[in-house]
Amino acid sequence: MDWIRLTKSGKDLAGVKGRLVEVTEEELAKHSSKEDCWICIRGFVYNVTPYMEYHPGGEEELMKAAGTDGTDLFDQVHRWVNYESMLKECLVGRMALKPVSVSKEISSISEEKKRLNGLLLEKKVLDASAKDSTPSYDWFQTDSLITIVIYTKQKDMNAELVIVDCEDKRLRGEIILNDYSYVLEVDLDHAVEEDFLIKIAEKIGKVEINLKKKDNNHWKTLGQPLESHNTFVKRKSRDLFYRKCKLVSKTEVTHDTKLFCFKLPESTHFHIPTGQHVYLKHIIAGTEVVKPYTPLLPFLPLDFEEPSCHDSANIYLMIKIYPSGLFTQALDRLQIGDCISISNPEGNFRKSQVEAVEDLVLLAAGTGFTPMVKVLSFALTEVVSLRTAKLIFFNKTEDDILWRNQLEQLALKDERFEVQFVLSEPARGWAGQQGRISSSLLSGFLKRSRKDSKVLVCICGPAPFTEQGVQCLKDLGYSQEEMHAFTA
Ligand code: FAD
Ligand code: NAP
Repeated sequence: MDWIRLTKSGKDLAGVKGRLVEVTEEELAKHSSKEDCWICIRGFVYNVTPYMEYHPGGEEELMKAAGTDGTDLFDQVHRWVNYESMLKECLVGRMALKPVSVSKEISSISEEKKRLNGLLLEKKVLDASAKDSTPSYDWFQTDSLITIVIYTKQKDMNAELVIVDCEDKRLRGEIILNDYSYVLEVDLDHAVEEDFLIKIAEKIGKVEINLKKKDNNHWKTLGQPLESHNTFVKRKSRDLFYRKCKLVSKTEVTHDTKLFCFKLPESTHFHIPTGQHVYLKHIIAGTEVVKPYTPLLPFLPLDFEEPSCHDSANIYLMIKIYPSGLFTQALDRLQIGDCISISNPEGNFRKSQVEAVEDLVLLAAGTGFTPMVKVLSFALTEVVSLRTAKLIFFNKTEDDILWRNQLEQLALKDERFEVQFVLSEPARGWAGQQGRISSSLLSGFLKRSRKDSKVLVCICGPAPFTEQGVQCLKDLGYSQEEMHAFTA
């Protein structure tokens, strides 16, 4: 909030008196000290000197890119952050084009320009394996229907890999294929009804989108291709896509944590895969702010005999409201019926990591519990090899424990499941475990159900907790494949 206030103060934060300048690489390199620091992101140069003390990752992180192109570093750490909006008052100008010899062909000049502006489109630079598996699409129509067929060439297609939005006449379909994503994006020739149907032929990898025409016009074309139409690129290089979701309920979980339920628009079809997060975007004091949150189930299912019926029309988020939190305070002020933008899911957890597991261990701290809910539910419901599932849940006090009742009930109901609460600031009389995560504490809890059993330990919480947990697990002899740390 302090930063946002400063950007609204009318001060010349960029230090160029309101005139944008062309910056050469030599000029950029000159501004590489804490007192005078310029950074280039995607071809635009920002004077981040006034932002130093506000950067959540600290000055040192920012200084890693001082006087250089920080695009890659930025993308590695928090590519979802809307720096254009956060840093718009710090904009110095664009990178100047490098002088090129006259003999260079026009195409290479424009290529150079794209590169210099950080805009070299990765979608054109596919590796051979990706090229071979590039999906394709086709479409046809009847009087009342438009059918778009995407041939993904993926044999185990499923609903979690297909995300379709169709708002007004804009259709966007995204298919996730491992680290790649295929997008079909068109401004449709004519209007269609809001509700549409997705059919997936899982074995042959065919995805059908059935749109209902609003009138029975004959369409000459499917529509005008939009920017990302028919592209197949690394997922990481795609901009996040958002749709507006309506807050339908907000219920208290503990004194500072609430369960928010957001309704997806009728015109969106997507399922959030286990272990993945989404980004929420909201305008706060005129600035776009984006934060990640991990969708979970509305409650902990107690009956795991039947596969649970997932509610794909709503997104449930359990969010801790921090007294000085920029985003969580704004979220808490949302009224029922208000909207917020929610992105496509992301994350590197794969269900296949749990398949065939015999012993599942979940180490969660505070709201780091959120990804564990779906992982636990999936393991108890669908992993036939599972013998034991143990949650070790670290909190400050008893009042901070999320869904304690439900967890205890589940432990009574399902003999495979056990929960241990560990408190760092217990009140007098707490008879349970206390302290912070450590190798000695973990070694007391982590027992394989049989020698050499297949184990997965998932860990999530504040970043230093997760780092320390991973180190403890290594010290206890767990291999990299036997652990999964949830991070951004
Ligand atoms: P900020 O304005 O960033 O911080 C204000 C103050 O709040 C800080 O000074 C600090 O005192 C406190 N604070 C802020 N963030 C943290 C933090 N991360 N740890 C400890 N103290 C903090 N949060 C949830 O509640 N539920 C989720 O499901 C969830 N999922 C996440 C998934 C991922 C992949 C990641 C990386 C984070 C997730 N978070 C989740 C954290 C969330 O993204 C925000 O960091 C958090 O809501 C705080 O945002 P804020 O803008 O309110 O706080
Ligand atoms: P919290 O209440 O502040 O802390 C929960 C427990 O973790 C406490 O017992 C605390 O002990 C312990 N802890 C904190 N820092 C530690 C450290 N450095 N070493 C060892 N133990 C530590 O937690 P919270 O406010 O709910 O925060 C939850 C965190 O989870 C957030 O940082 C959020 O970003 C993260 N999260 C990440 C994901 C994800 O990556 N996918 C998903 C959800 C949440 P002390 O009292 O001693 O500090």
